[in-house]
Amino acid sequence: MTLQLDAIKYALFTLCLFLFIACEKAPIEPITYPDVTAELCPYFQQFEEEAAKRNIVADLKLAGIKGKLVNISKGYVGLCSTHAEKEIRIDNHFWERSSDLSRELIVFHELGHCFLDRRHNNQKTVDGTCASMMRNGLGGCVDFYTEKTRTQLLDELFSGL
Ligand SMILES: [Zn+2]
Repeated sequence: MTLQLDAIKYALFTLCLFLFIACEKAPIEPITYPDVTAELCPYFQQFEEEAAKRNIVADLKLAGIKGKLVNISKGYVGLCSTHAEKEIRIDNHFWERSSDLSRELIVFHELGHCFLDRRHNNQKTVDGTCASMMRNGLGGCVDFYTEKTRTQLLDELFSGL
């Protein structure tokens, strides 16, 4: 009897452990968006998740926002077009040489325009770094988007100072 009980306990423990590990390791199911280039999709998804963490519903599919990688001239690395339909365009060359964080910064910045209807904000922090991801990139403040500053800058993006 005791042995049986122990066996049940062990089985339950194993099951709990398995469920725990399964949950811990479960990857987030990647979402694809119609009319969004595959490389940009994870960033669209991340934008929705970061919005959700801040109690904002960002349904980029519903909003019909398109996204593509193209060659942009005139020194721009990204833009949000609101002509007829909303579309973000990111420069191919910029994309290829950029880190994950730089890619996130530019995609989120453009979604800041296209989805959040935000304008530029070149406000500086005391150390001269940009207080917002919505800086225009033409000077005035220095970009400092790192793992450390990310949460604060995302808070600012979604709160729309
Ligand atoms: Zn901009």
